[in-house]
Amino acid sequence: MKLFKKNNAVAIDGPAGSGKSTISRLVAEKLGFFCVDTGAMYRALTLKVMRKNIDFSDEEKIAALSKDMDLILSPPETGSTWMRVVLDGEDISKEIRSLEVTGNVKYVAKIARVRGNLVELQREMVRGLGGAVMEGRDIGTVVLPDAEYKFYVDASFFERVERRFSELKAKGTPTTRKEVEEDLKARDHTDKTREVGALKKADDAVYIDTTDLSIEEVVRVIIGYVKKT
Ligand code: C5P
Repeated sequence: MKLFKKNNAVAIDGPAGSGKSTISRLVAEKLGFFCVDTGAMYRALTLKVMRKNIDFSDEEKIAALSKDMDLILSPPETGSTWMRVVLDGEDISKEIRSLEVTGNVKYVAKIARVRGNLVELQREMVRGLGGAVMEGRDIGTVVLPDAEYKFYVDASFFERVERRFSELKAKGTPTTRKEVEEDLKARDHTDKTREVGALKKADDAVYIDTTDLSIEEVVRVIIGYVKKT
């Protein structure tokens, strides 16, 4: 890939509802790279903990589970936004998007040993793939501090609520704007105040405010940036 001089890694971080997942997938497609959705990894582990009826306070057991996850991420099926996620041979792509899993990820994502294990797995994935677009919360700061390109995508709180609400409505998930608002507020708080791997713009990341931009425009900005530098 001629565009890259260093390590073929593009880190994209940002809060929930910023459009990060769709943007990252499209950027990866345009650059001919695989896209790694690290949120899906935390979600998969959360589902596993729930299915095994492990208490969310049992950090020891959860950390052990995170150590050897048989997890395969592949591009989404046609018409779907989200990556295909197979855990222990079972396709769990839909289940990990449930409101229940979404509400419980925070208990798993705050455990330092879990983060250590998943960060290692994420780095291994990028090495194995020979580069990737990786999206999450701590990619530019912790997982790939040497990524050649780093972006932090954001949008106003109001816009993020609107986006998430329309997405859930389109999927037929029963919810109200108020509920979405409360959920995003709570997720922002846990994401930004976590002791390890908190959501934070890396000092050398390019900040993109997507409030008034379409997905295609954001993708164009990112690709333009990669081509220019
Ligand atoms: O991106 P997504 O909303 O699917 O992520 C699910 C959850 O996983 C988020 O609430 C976030 O707190 C957590 N996460 C994380 N570190 C990452 C990616 C996601 O803690 N790198």
